[in-house]
Amino acid sequence: MIYNVAALLSGELGISRVYSIEDESITHEGGDFHGISGSVKLTRTDRGILLRGKATGAGINECARCLETAVTVLHTVVEDEYFPVNGDLGPGSSLLRQEIVEEEEIPEFWIDEANDLDTSEALRQGFISETPLVNLCKPDCAGICPECGNNQNTNPCECEVRNIDPRLAGLLDLKI
Ligand SMILES: [Zn+2]
Ligand SMILES: [Zn+2]
Repeated sequence: MIYNVAALLSGELGISRVYSIEDESITHEGGDFHGISGSVKLTRTDRGILLRGKATGAGINECARCLETAVTVLHTVVEDEYFPVNGDLGPGSSLLRQEIVEEEEIPEFWIDEANDLDTSEALRQGFISETPLVNLCKPDCAGICPECGNNQNTNPCECEVRNIDPRLAGLLDLKI
């Protein structure tokens, strides 16, 4: 999801390009996003490139109850401005990199020296903000038996605690 924006940067204010995203992946600490599809629109601003994007992807996490894989479908809408590392955008640009740095308004998103703009970080942040705090493999996941560690989704064990709500299982651990 890297796009060369040299032509956009040397073009007139307001020109834009639309790209579609198909079956891309983003890997990050604590979970991955797969099967990402959607579209991004890149528009030349007086300071750089405005990214507007819409994407759907599957967030891959660990189930909070049974620790198996939990797949959560996520939708995100992102809007972020990217600034060129090269700085001087020539006529029509209102801001140079030097000024941004001096004002300590250091932006998070840069277009690199080769004028490549990587949309992954913006989309990653978008997906993370849509990821629920608790991810489950299925809404009624029965979790793990706190006595024997058995995954109760497949063959429930015979332990006496088996009827305890898995959400309360953590409390049991505290008592022991
Ligand atoms: Zn589960
Ligand atoms: Zn058990």
